[in-house]
Amino acid sequence: MTQSAIVEVLLPVALDRTLTYAVPDGLEVAPGDVVVAPLGARATMGVVWDGEGAAVESARLKPLAGRIAAAPLPPSMRRLVDWVANYTLAPRGQVLRMALRGLSEEAAAPALRMGLRATGALPSRRTPARDRVLAVAADGAARSKKELSEAAGVSSSVLDGLVAEGALAPAELPPPPPPPRPDPSLPGPELSREQGAAAARLVEMTAARSFAVALLDGVTGSGKTEVYCEAVAEALREGRQALVMAPEIALTVPFLDRFARRFGARPAVWHASVGEKGRAAVRRGVADGSIQAVVAARSGLFLPFRDLGLIVVDEEHDAAYKQEDGVAYNARDMAVVRGRLEGAAVVLASATPSLESRVNAERGRYERLALPARYGGSVMPEIRAIDMRRAGPPRGEWLAPALVAAVAKNLAAGEQSLLFLNRRGYAPLTLCRRCGHRMKCPNCSAWLVEHRFRASLVCHQCAYSASSPTACPACAAENALVACGPGVERIRDEAVARFPEARVTVLSSDLIGAGERLSAELDAIERGAVDIVVGTQMVTKGHHFPKLTLVGAIDADFALGAADPRAAERTFQMLQQVTGRAGRAELPGRALIQTHDPDHPVIRALVAGDREGFYRHEAEARAAAGMPPFGRLAAIVVSAPAREAAEAHGRALARAAPKAEHVRVLGPAEAPLAMLRGRHRMRLLVHAGREVDVPGYLRAWLAAAPAARGGVRVAVDVDPQSF
Ligand code: ADP
Ligand code: ZN
Repeated sequence: MTQSAIVEVLLPVALDRTLTYAVPDGLEVAPGDVVVAPLGARATMGVVWDGEGAAVESARLKPLAGRIAAAPLPPSMRRLVDWVANYTLAPRGQVLRMALRGLSEEAAAPALRMGLRATGALPSRRTPARDRVLAVAADGAARSKKELSEAAGVSSSVLDGLVAEGALAPAELPPPPPPPRPDPSLPGPELSREQGAAAARLVEMTAARSFAVALLDGVTGSGKTEVYCEAVAEALREGRQALVMAPEIALTVPFLDRFARRFGARPAVWHASVGEKGRAAVRRGVADGSIQAVVAARSGLFLPFRDLGLIVVDEEHDAAYKQEDGVAYNARDMAVVRGRLEGAAVVLASATPSLESRVNAERGRYERLALPARYGGSVMPEIRAIDMRRAGPPRGEWLAPALVAAVAKNLAAGEQSLLFLNRRGYAPLTLCRRCGHRMKCPNCSAWLVEHRFRASLVCHQCAYSASSPTACPACAAENALVACGPGVERIRDEAVARFPEARVTVLSSDLIGAGERLSAELDAIERGAVDIVVGTQMVTKGHHFPKLTLVGAIDADFALGAADPRAAERTFQMLQQVTGRAGRAELPGRALIQTHDPDHPVIRALVAGDREGFYRHEAEARAAAGMPPFGRLAAIVVSAPAREAAEAHGRALARAAPKAEHVRVLGPAEAPLAMLRGRHRMRLLVHAGREVDVPGYLRAWLAAAPAARGGVRVAVDVDPQSF
């Protein structure tokens, strides 16, 4: 017998290497094909990968069990999987798993699409119910069981009886009608001169059909969405596909309507809570090209588009693009990688771009398109700081007199106010007045946050939750537990007490959730049915509240004290975004920032409206410290149920660290969250020069280091979000 073919197959399991399989006679497979492969005692899906099969005698190889009639992974996707795995040090199979989402559903879909049709044969026994079914089915068309039983008003057992007697037979259902296609020939809004110039560049870049990155750097309300929609229109006109990424699902809801107004049809939607059927349909649609536009959360980056011409990353600075669990990747950065692999244009849009992207623009790697003014002559809000050391509220209250007065004035004028505090719940800490005991999470080094609406104490790290006790668990004192510090629920209470006549609402992810509740709440705010909105950073994102003219930032600088060198940038972005909610229509807006440190460069830049000054100052500080993007960082977190084990392995790793030029290894030291979900965490930091290949360094290091044993886990994070 001649030697039969062998192939390399990558499996969606935590394995970096491909496995070699024999191809049984009669089966033809090519790289990218989705196959079923035996793995131990079970069978799993996998993808035929590129590369020579290892020199193994095929007689000893297990044969593939078959091929799945689903969209193959094109070469660009296979290179993306390789690239992401190589960069993040995640096993390739784990990255592949992200690229196969929706596939098992897609593969199963044909079975779901079977229905019944009349055969023309008559059943031996006639009943009124049977006759009704036959009347409905008389045209011979295939119908789903559900449709048939509903139309005839019978139970499914009647259908089963007719099948048993041969009067009905299984038949494939016609494919569902394709979703309406967005129409790029519909006219967009008339653009301002600045918008028009930026849009023209984006259209040019998209039409060039080659890789290029633009940073669309426009202040809040400058019309970034209108501008990048012109690039979307160009991709559609070319018959290519467009992917618009948003950091949060909540954001996509208003965008879908906006998109539909612009293009006459909604885009497809992809995120974690899209149901199985929806996922299968989107995956199939992007692969066969019938879906041209997709709005997606970060995981949409791994969809197998047939001909991707444009990727937009909206709010590109947002930390939600970084996945921390599993494969630690930043979808914004990987979007640029994918754009290169696809020969697509990439648009990074933000009112507060990341320092990384700004610096990439300065280095000429990205083209910066600036929209420095709001659309339609509406002006940027006037921003003032309230010095809480001198003009703060009395103890136990959180709204400074100047802010209270401003809200009162707004109420009298019938305008809306937003009180912003990026802390969910009622109070971040519960303390016993008698013995000083603090309520802590049993699994994490984190305080339990009181949530009064739910009457419970919750850990924001692991979601541990317990009902609020009446007595101190340490000293048993009754009524001695006190709430310390504010969360949004507490600010709401204070606002209600201050302004009993006002309509107050809270926008916070745990109170609202995504989806319909949120849409209704946003609607009410937009209509002006709410006077005071109390919100977490959820409100900083993408919504337009035309009647909102005052923003009060309650605790503007609480993150600034953190040791994290990225804290300043993040605080600046958040405050810039939230103050940008004020005054977007005809009504001018203003913002008051409560701070204990009015001289902090972040606060000063905000008050002065000096965006450029902030970026300059921040870039200088980072450059001086060799911090990203002027140097590179990676974190290795070693965790274990026992602290000693984590520490010992951390030290063993540190000893094994290779010496290399421009690389410093720091630690092990306690990770910022020293304990998380019952595991103690030690961290090593790699601080390297910009020219260093950090993933390569890490790979060499870990390959030579002792293996983790006995419940010890090692997680690598290249370019950590906080450091
Ligand atoms: P950004 O995303 O930069 O904050 P948007 O694209 O959301 O800004 O635009 C802000 C508001 O201004 C939206 O309500 C938008 O419809 C409106 N707008 C922007 N540009 C135009 C335009 N050229 N014609 C009409 N309306 C516009
Ligand atoms: Zn916890």
